[in-house]
Amino acid sequence: MPQRPSPEDGKLWAELGLDVELHARILESISANFERQVESRPGRPAGMAYFDGVIHGSHGDRVREVMAKRAAGAKFVGTFCVYVPEEILIALGTVHLALCGGTAVTIPYAEQNFPRNMCPLVKSTLGLALSGTCPYSPLEDLAVGETTCDAKKKTWDVLGREGGFHVLELPQKKNPADRALWLEEVRTFTRRIEALTGNALDADKLAGAVRLMNRKRRALARMHDWRKADCPPISGTDALVVMQAALIDDPERFTLNLESLNEELAERAASGLGALPPGAKRILIAGCPSVLGNWKVHHIVETSGGAVVVDESCTGTRYFTGLVDESPADRDGLIEAIADRYLTIDCSCFSPNAERMANAVRMAGEYRAAGVVQYVLHACHTYNVEAIAMADALKAAGIPSIKIETDYSEEDAGQLQIRIEAFIESLEFRHGR
Ligand code: SF4
Ligand code: SF4
Repeated sequence: MPQRPSPEDGKLWAELGLDVELHARILESISANFERQVESRPGRPAGMAYFDGVIHGSHGDRVREVMAKRAAGAKFVGTFCVYVPEEILIALGTVHLALCGGTAVTIPYAEQNFPRNMCPLVKSTLGLALSGTCPYSPLEDLAVGETTCDAKKKTWDVLGREGGFHVLELPQKKNPADRALWLEEVRTFTRRIEALTGNALDADKLAGAVRLMNRKRRALARMHDWRKADCPPISGTDALVVMQAALIDDPERFTLNLESLNEELAERAASGLGALPPGAKRILIAGCPSVLGNWKVHHIVETSGGAVVVDESCTGTRYFTGLVDESPADRDGLIEAIADRYLTIDCSCFSPNAERMANAVRMAGEYRAAGVVQYVLHACHTYNVEAIAMADALKAAGIPSIKIETDYSEEDAGQLQIRIEAFIESLEFRHGR
């Protein structure tokens, strides 16, 4: 999204019927944040240039790529959540990417018609569509929502009134009956994408898509293994940029570039080249995702004496943990394996969600986090209420934590910096890692 607009981009946006002037202003504002919070940081791996380019091209080159693929007959599918089974979209030949908004600039456009007390992620996403500044809206053949939280599911009702929308129903528990419901949802989703593309899901193509997504997950896991090092060779802010790119880039190209970044990280780790000062306190960020356009909390942590070593979020481990079983030889077996893997995701939409607390405590140990910052977006009730159980579980494991509630604006940045700095400083005395 951050991109100093070029004249070619202006022409592209006009061709798509967007509000060119407003769109340019939004990108200018996001570019300024990206340059200040990400690109200007010293000691970044050279391989980050590719991922910066993905972010820069998200309203330019990637849009052109989607247009070219559509012109060649592919359907374009927009998504909003990591529960959408990407393997099925890939196997059926669609081009897909996540459309979640991470900018405050578009929020007033959502607030004209929707309640102000919804989370910034939903409002930002809606605002992009309603302000005529989302370049993907005019290209969308189908949008896929899910019933993960009230804000989202009621928003899909409104957006879906004119059709072109599919909603995946997520169960709220993980009992056998819930698994059966979810499997049926994945089957229905498959039929919907088959109808959209006019193609029947082929077992070989599905197996290929499963292998590709598993390879992508392995590459992401390997990047995270380097973050476990004493001096992580990649900062948490850069790792977040990679995760944001993962949600919008072509999966194969992304994986190849991540594999080559991982080689560079291996060399940096071997020579003890850390991305942050050696005394930085190791921090796990848990909770809401930080989607493209939003680097605020990572930047604050990493300019306050901390190093973000892992994200327990959908722009972190929730996106890539757990592989799909590649062994089924038939289409139905593979669909079942896909449904099972996605049901292991531990979003706060599940109740009760003891699995998430156990995973966070385990991760804090694996990544040797000295403390946890629970990151909750305003009006995200599921993560906010679950923060109580999370704080209790961390406390029981002897891991200090702090909860911050914030949005996409920079207005509270000073106040957050003071609280986070004080928290990180206190870790010296308690853990000294
Ligand atoms: S936090 Fe929950 S609703 Fe949001 S993207 Fe992740 S799984 Fe989906
Ligand atoms: S951040 Fe919370 S409220 Fe917002 S879309 Fe995600 S789960 Fe829903």
